[in-house]
Amino acid sequence: VRTESTEVVIIGAGPAGAVAAALLRKQGRKVLILEREQFPRFSIGESLLPQSMEYLEAAGLLRDVVEAGFQYKNGAAFACGDKRTEFDFRQKFSPGWGTTYQVERAKFDQVLATAVQRMGAEVRYRHEVLAVEPGQRPRLQVRAADGEEYQVEADFLLDASGFGRLLPRLLKLESPSNFPVRGALFTHVQDNFPAGEFDRDKILITTHPHHVDVWFWTIPFSHGRCSLGVVAEPAFLDRYPGDDLHKLQAIVGEDAHLSHLLANARWDLLPVRRITGYSANVSALCGPGYALLGNAGEFLDPVFSSGVTIAFKSAQLASECLRRHYAGETVDWQQDYALPLQKGVRTFRRFVEAWYEGGFQKIIYHPNAQPDIRDMICSILAGYAWDEHNPYVADNGRRLKVLEEICSA
Ligand code: FAD
Repeated sequence: VRTESTEVVIIGAGPAGAVAAALLRKQGRKVLILEREQFPRFSIGESLLPQSMEYLEAAGLLRDVVEAGFQYKNGAAFACGDKRTEFDFRQKFSPGWGTTYQVERAKFDQVLATAVQRMGAEVRYRHEVLAVEPGQRPRLQVRAADGEEYQVEADFLLDASGFGRLLPRLLKLESPSNFPVRGALFTHVQDNFPAGEFDRDKILITTHPHHVDVWFWTIPFSHGRCSLGVVAEPAFLDRYPGDDLHKLQAIVGEDAHLSHLLANARWDLLPVRRITGYSANVSALCGPGYALLGNAGEFLDPVFSSGVTIAFKSAQLASECLRRHYAGETVDWQQDYALPLQKGVRTFRRFVEAWYEGGFQKIIYHPNAQPDIRDMICSILAGYAWDEHNPYVADNGRRLKVLEEICSA
């Protein structure tokens, strides 16, 4: 079998793979990305957080994103029955970007991958990685678009295969998530929101009026379309009759505010999709000759739109470890990659837990919120989950619990 050789091989050209490739190209590394699909391809994860702009900027990809004309985003709005609140990401505790975009991922991922090719990374579409042998020089078994199989060996392997979770599956690194299994039904619609009633610059997260653990996302795009989805345990979704379109429409119909906003929507652009059991964990984020990036490593929950930001952060940390490796330094991947990445993931995890337990809602809808505390919460919602100056990052959940108790009184 033919064997090729490169410096860094990356599995997957999604956000994690593309940003890692761009950062490595800036260091002058030889980079090969193997991507199973032909782009553009549909993907979920459309609401970005301002923290992600820093990584796009560092990777030299920001201009491509800005010029692609995505929907500007400056915050998040929340609704539950008659309660409303919103966060403007520019009014936050941590320094850094306060605005970002809401993106159709088919286009966004293609913009990034194309820019990365221009920067000199080789991207091979419809080349699927079938098997991996980790070690000093990891070796991959690949099937090309024409069916031919070949091998690639590299100095280092970054698994950015997302929900494909290739290495966790092949190397049996998967460990159960401590979140219950949840599923999402979602689609894109021509939204026709009533004039002046929807701030397109914000994602809207709506809690189901009768079920605190069921929620909807509404993510407006440019050109009058929006992404609409509901998240619930599968048994809840299965209670509704008909196909997934009818289920989604029926559940949306139970919320008066969302029904009003979507009264004139045209549901004609995409089939309703379903994804279930997406929360995932691993026993190790790195091993001999490899590291897991983005969703290939861990995925919490979509409620705070943290997925792409975590994917970018992992790419940034991994590329920095590789820079040091090529400079002749000894890199301890557990210490220098896994632990720093997990710090922010832990922050998001506590917020996700508080969301499903209902405590987070008590905080955000509280009528007398202290402005400085709200700015700290806003920082996390904007993705600054690694800023240890923020007491809600540094702390082990105690502060959030205390705040919940104060807001429940
Ligand atoms: P992906 O984007 O999944 O990319 C992986 C790539 O690897 C794919 O292109 C795939 O084709 C390729 N691949 C897989 N296997 C192989 C193989 N064997 N060989 C070659 N290539 C392979 N995140 C947000 O930031 N905002 C949101 O609003 C948001 N909403 C979400 C809603 C839901 C319901 C879910 C489930 C997730 C959501 N996420 C959101 C999370 C987001 O989808 C992911 O975190 C993000 O896409 C991860 O990027 P990635 O680069 O790790 O993987």
